[in-house]
Amino acid sequence: MASPLHIKGIRKAFGKGDKAVEVLKRIDIDVAPGEFLILVGPSGCGKSTLLNIIAGLEEPTEGELHIGGKNVIGMPPAQRDIAMVFQSYALYPTMSVADNIGFALEMRKVPKAEREKRIQEVAAILQIQHLLDRRPAQLSGGQRQRVAMGRALARDPQLFLFDEPLSNLDAKLRVEMRAEIKRLHQHSGITTVYVTHDQIEAMTLGSRIAVMKDGILQQIGTPDQIYRRPANTYVGGFIGSPT
Ligand code: ADP
Ligand code: MG
Repeated sequence: MASPLHIKGIRKAFGKGDKAVEVLKRIDIDVAPGEFLILVGPSGCGKSTLLNIIAGLEEPTEGELHIGGKNVIGMPPAQRDIAMVFQSYALYPTMSVADNIGFALEMRKVPKAEREKRIQEVAAILQIQHLLDRRPAQLSGGQRQRVAMGRALARDPQLFLFDEPLSNLDAKLRVEMRAEIKRLHQHSGITTVYVTHDQIEAMTLGSRIAVMKDGILQQIGTPDQIYRRPANTYVGGFIGSPT
Protein backbone atom coordinates (compact mmCIF):
# COMPACT_ATOMS: atom_id res chain seq x y z
CA MET A 1 0.00 0.00 0.00
CA ALA A 2 1.39 3.40 -0.99
CA SER A 3 2.13 5.86 1.80
CA PRO A 4 -0.90 8.14 2.16
CA LEU A 5 1.44 11.12 2.46
CA HIS A 6 5.08 11.46 1.50
CA ILE A 7 6.79 14.82 2.01
CA LYS A 8 10.42 15.14 0.93
CA GLY A 9 12.68 18.18 0.97
CA ILE A 10 9.77 20.60 0.98
CA ARG A 11 10.90 24.24 1.06
CA LYS A 12 8.76 27.34 0.89
CA ALA A 13 9.83 30.94 0.52
CA PHE A 14 7.47 33.91 0.35
CA GLY A 15 8.63 36.97 -1.60
CA LYS A 16 11.35 37.30 -4.23
CA GLY A 17 15.09 38.04 -4.40
CA ASP A 18 16.64 39.52 -1.26
CA LYS A 19 13.15 40.06 0.17
CA ALA A 20 12.46 36.31 0.12
CA VAL A 21 11.70 34.78 3.50
CA GLU A 22 12.07 31.05 3.88
CA VAL A 23 9.30 29.74 6.13
CA LEU A 24 9.80 25.99 5.51
CA LYS A 25 13.30 24.55 5.40
CA ARG A 26 13.60 21.07 3.92
CA ILE A 27 10.75 19.24 5.60
CA ASP A 28 10.72 15.41 5.34
CA ILE A 29 7.72 13.48 6.70
CA ASP A 30 6.25 10.08 5.84
CA VAL A 31 2.79 9.31 7.16
CA ALA A 32 1.64 5.71 7.64
CA PRO A 33 -1.85 4.48 6.66
CA GLY A 34 -4.42 5.31 9.34
CA GLU A 35 -2.00 7.40 11.33
CA PHE A 36 -3.03 10.52 13.30
CA LEU A 37 -0.07 12.83 12.84
CA ILE A 38 0.11 16.03 14.85
CA LEU A 39 1.99 19.05 13.55
CA VAL A 40 2.74 21.19 16.57
CA GLY A 41 4.78 24.33 17.15
CA PRO A 42 4.50 27.99 18.11
CA SER A 43 2.53 30.51 16.08
CA GLY A 44 4.36 31.49 12.88
CA CYS A 45 6.56 28.37 12.66
CA GLY A 46 5.05 27.30 9.32
CA LYS A 47 2.37 24.74 10.27
CA SER A 48 -0.43 26.23 8.17
CA THR A 49 1.92 26.80 5.24
CA LEU A 50 2.86 23.11 5.26
CA LEU A 51 -0.79 22.04 5.53
CA ASN A 52 -1.78 24.41 2.72
CA ILE A 53 0.95 22.93 0.54
CA ILE A 54 -0.41 19.42 1.21
CA ALA A 55 -3.91 20.67 0.35
CA GLY A 56 -2.71 22.41 -2.82
CA LEU A 57 -3.64 25.91 -1.63
CA GLU A 58 0.05 26.86 -1.85
CA GLU A 59 2.77 25.39 -4.07
CA PRO A 60 6.17 24.61 -2.53
CA THR A 61 9.29 26.40 -3.73
CA GLU A 62 11.05 23.04 -3.88
CA GLY A 63 10.52 19.43 -2.90
CA GLU A 64 8.44 16.32 -3.50
CA LEU A 65 4.89 15.66 -2.39
CA HIS A 66 2.99 12.41 -2.92
CA ILE A 67 -0.54 11.62 -1.74
CA GLY A 68 -1.43 7.94 -1.96
CA GLY A 69 1.66 7.35 -4.10
CA LYS A 70 0.66 10.04 -6.62
CA ASN A 71 2.82 13.08 -7.30
CA VAL A 72 0.49 16.01 -6.58
CA ILE A 73 2.79 18.96 -7.30
CA GLY A 74 0.76 21.28 -9.52
CA MET A 75 -2.44 19.26 -9.02
CA PRO A 76 -5.49 21.40 -8.07
CA PRO A 77 -6.90 20.91 -4.53
CA ALA A 78 -10.15 19.37 -5.78
CA GLN A 79 -8.26 16.48 -7.39
CA ARG A 80 -6.14 15.58 -4.35
CA ASP A 81 -8.58 13.30 -2.51
CA ILE A 82 -8.25 15.28 0.71
CA ALA A 83 -10.67 17.07 3.01
CA MET A 84 -9.72 20.01 5.17
CA VAL A 85 -11.29 21.42 8.34
CA PHE A 86 -10.28 24.93 9.40
CA GLN A 87 -10.77 26.92 12.57
CA SER A 88 -13.41 29.06 10.87
CA TYR A 89 -16.16 26.71 9.81
CA ALA A 90 -17.09 28.42 6.53
CA LEU A 91 -20.41 26.60 6.21
CA TYR A 92 -22.73 27.77 3.42
CA PRO A 93 -25.10 30.06 5.37
CA THR A 94 -28.14 29.70 3.10
CA MET A 95 -28.02 25.90 2.93
CA SER A 96 -29.38 23.42 5.45
CA VAL A 97 -26.99 21.25 7.43
CA ALA A 98 -27.88 18.29 5.19
CA ASP A 99 -27.09 20.29 2.05
CA ASN A 100 -23.84 21.54 3.56
CA ILE A 101 -22.78 17.96 4.20
CA GLY A 102 -23.93 16.73 0.78
CA PHE A 103 -22.63 19.63 -1.30
CA ALA A 104 -19.27 18.12 -2.27
CA LEU A 105 -21.05 14.89 -3.27
CA GLU A 106 -23.48 16.85 -5.40
CA MET A 107 -20.56 18.56 -7.12
CA ARG A 108 -19.15 15.12 -7.84
CA LYS A 109 -22.51 14.13 -9.35
CA VAL A 110 -23.19 11.41 -6.78
CA PRO A 111 -26.86 10.35 -7.31
CA LYS A 112 -29.41 11.80 -4.87
CA ALA A 113 -30.34 8.53 -3.15
CA GLU A 114 -26.71 7.67 -2.50
CA ARG A 115 -26.05 11.20 -1.31
CA GLU A 116 -28.89 11.04 1.19
CA LYS A 117 -27.68 7.71 2.50
CA ARG A 118 -24.20 9.12 3.01
CA ILE A 119 -25.57 12.24 4.74
CA GLN A 120 -27.49 9.99 7.16
CA GLU A 121 -24.41 7.85 7.86
CA VAL A 122 -22.22 10.86 8.53
CA ALA A 123 -24.90 12.52 10.68
CA ALA A 124 -25.16 9.35 12.76
CA ILE A 125 -21.39 9.19 13.31
CA LEU A 126 -21.31 12.82 14.45
CA GLN A 127 -24.66 12.63 16.27
CA ILE A 128 -26.20 15.51 14.37
CA GLN A 129 -29.23 13.70 12.88
CA HIS A 130 -31.57 16.10 14.69
CA LEU A 131 -29.87 19.13 13.12
CA LEU A 132 -30.08 18.22 9.44
CA ASP A 133 -32.88 20.67 8.57
CA ARG A 134 -31.36 23.65 10.35
CA ARG A 135 -29.30 26.48 8.87
CA PRO A 136 -25.80 27.22 10.21
CA ALA A 137 -27.04 30.37 12.02
CA GLN A 138 -29.30 28.15 14.15
CA LEU A 139 -26.38 26.10 15.52
CA SER A 140 -24.00 26.50 18.44
CA GLY A 141 -20.25 26.73 17.85
CA GLY A 142 -19.70 23.08 18.70
CA GLN A 143 -22.55 21.98 16.45
CA ARG A 144 -21.15 24.01 13.57
CA GLN A 145 -17.78 22.43 14.02
CA ARG A 146 -19.44 18.99 13.93
CA VAL A 147 -21.16 19.91 10.67
CA ALA A 148 -17.84 21.11 9.23
CA MET A 149 -16.33 17.75 10.14
CA GLY A 150 -19.35 15.96 8.69
CA ARG A 151 -18.92 17.82 5.45
CA ALA A 152 -15.28 16.70 5.29
CA LEU A 153 -16.13 13.13 6.29
CA ALA A 154 -18.89 12.81 3.67
CA ARG A 155 -16.28 12.95 0.93
CA ASP A 156 -14.54 9.87 2.35
CA PRO A 157 -11.14 11.36 1.58
CA GLN A 158 -7.84 9.53 1.57
CA LEU A 159 -6.42 12.22 3.84
CA PHE A 160 -7.98 14.45 6.50
CA LEU A 161 -6.33 17.81 7.20
CA PHE A 162 -7.20 19.86 10.27
CA ASP A 163 -5.84 23.35 10.91
CA GLU A 164 -6.42 24.30 14.56
CA PRO A 165 -10.11 23.36 14.31
CA LEU A 166 -10.81 23.91 18.01
CA SER A 167 -9.03 27.18 18.70
CA ASN A 168 -12.24 29.27 18.43
CA LEU A 169 -14.12 27.15 20.98
CA ASP A 170 -14.27 27.65 24.74
CA ALA A 171 -12.24 25.35 26.99
CA LYS A 172 -15.06 22.96 27.91
CA LEU A 173 -16.20 22.49 24.33
CA ARG A 174 -12.60 22.07 23.23
CA VAL A 175 -12.22 19.05 25.50
CA GLU A 176 -15.51 17.58 24.21
CA MET A 177 -14.58 18.10 20.57
CA ARG A 178 -11.15 16.61 21.14
CA ALA A 179 -12.84 13.37 22.19
CA GLU A 180 -15.18 13.67 19.20
CA ILE A 181 -12.27 13.99 16.77
CA LYS A 182 -10.55 11.01 18.36
CA ARG A 183 -13.71 8.94 17.98
CA LEU A 184 -14.15 10.08 14.40
CA HIS A 185 -10.63 8.97 13.59
CA GLN A 186 -11.05 5.59 15.28
CA HIS A 187 -14.33 5.09 13.47
CA SER A 188 -13.23 6.15 9.98
CA GLY A 189 -9.58 5.06 10.08
CA ILE A 190 -8.81 7.96 7.72
CA THR A 191 -5.18 9.11 7.79
CA THR A 192 -5.09 12.50 9.48
CA VAL A 193 -2.69 15.43 9.73
CA TYR A 194 -3.74 17.76 12.52
CA VAL A 195 -2.18 21.17 13.17
CA THR A 196 -2.23 22.69 16.64
CA HIS A 197 -0.13 24.95 18.85
CA ASP A 198 -1.61 23.26 21.94
CA GLN A 199 0.72 20.76 23.64
CA ILE A 200 -2.10 18.96 25.45
CA GLU A 201 -4.06 18.50 22.24
CA ALA A 202 -0.89 17.15 20.61
CA MET A 203 -0.16 14.67 23.39
CA THR A 204 -3.74 13.37 23.69
CA LEU A 205 -4.66 13.09 20.01
CA GLY A 206 -1.49 12.14 18.16
CA SER A 207 -0.25 8.67 17.31
CA ARG A 208 2.88 10.59 16.26
CA ILE A 209 3.89 14.17 16.79
CA ALA A 210 6.01 16.37 14.54
CA VAL A 211 7.44 19.33 16.45
CA MET A 212 8.27 22.39 14.34
CA LYS A 213 10.10 25.62 15.08
CA ASP A 214 11.14 28.36 12.62
CA GLY A 215 10.25 26.24 9.60
CA ILE A 216 12.42 23.34 10.75
CA LEU A 217 11.19 19.93 11.86
CA GLN A 218 12.79 19.51 15.29
CA GLN A 219 11.65 15.97 16.03
CA ILE A 220 9.07 13.42 14.97
CA GLY A 221 7.99 10.52 17.18
CA THR A 222 5.29 9.00 19.35
CA PRO A 223 4.03 11.12 22.26
CA ASP A 224 6.00 8.83 24.56
CA GLN A 225 9.24 9.24 22.59
CA ILE A 226 8.85 13.02 22.41
CA TYR A 227 8.08 13.25 26.10
CA ARG A 228 10.78 10.90 27.38
CA ARG A 229 13.52 11.59 24.85
CA PRO A 230 13.16 15.11 23.47
CA ALA A 231 15.71 15.68 20.68
CA ASN A 232 16.78 19.05 22.06
CA THR A 233 16.07 21.56 24.83
CA TYR A 234 13.48 23.32 22.67
CA VAL A 235 11.34 20.18 22.29
CA GLY A 236 11.83 19.32 25.97
CA GLY A 237 10.70 22.78 27.04
CA PHE A 238 7.82 22.96 24.61
CA ILE A 239 6.25 19.61 25.44
CA GLY A 240 7.23 19.71 29.10
CA SER A 241 5.79 23.13 29.92
CA PRO A 242 2.07 23.41 30.70
CA THR A 243 -0.08 25.70 28.51
P1 ADP B 1 1.66 28.89 11.73
O1 ADP B 1 0.49 28.26 11.06
O2 ADP B 1 2.63 27.92 12.31
O3 ADP B 1 1.25 29.92 12.74
P2 ADP B 1 2.15 30.03 9.11
O4 ADP B 1 2.44 28.86 8.25
O5 ADP B 1 0.82 30.64 9.00
O6 ADP B 1 2.51 29.68 10.63
O7 ADP B 1 3.21 31.16 8.78
C1 ADP B 1 4.61 30.92 8.78
C2 ADP B 1 5.33 32.21 8.38
O8 ADP B 1 5.06 32.50 7.02
C3 ADP B 1 4.89 33.42 9.17
O9 ADP B 1 6.02 34.21 9.43
C4 ADP B 1 3.92 34.11 8.25
O10 ADP B 1 3.91 35.49 8.48
C5 ADP B 1 4.51 33.80 6.88
N1 ADP B 1 3.49 33.73 5.82
C6 ADP B 1 2.44 32.88 5.76
N2 ADP B 1 1.73 33.06 4.63
C7 ADP B 1 2.34 34.06 3.94
C8 ADP B 1 2.11 34.71 2.70
N3 ADP B 1 1.08 34.38 1.91
N4 ADP B 1 2.96 35.69 2.33
C9 ADP B 1 4.01 36.03 3.10
N5 ADP B 1 4.31 35.46 4.28
C10 ADP B 1 3.49 34.49 4.71
MG1 MG C 1 -1.57 28.53 11.38
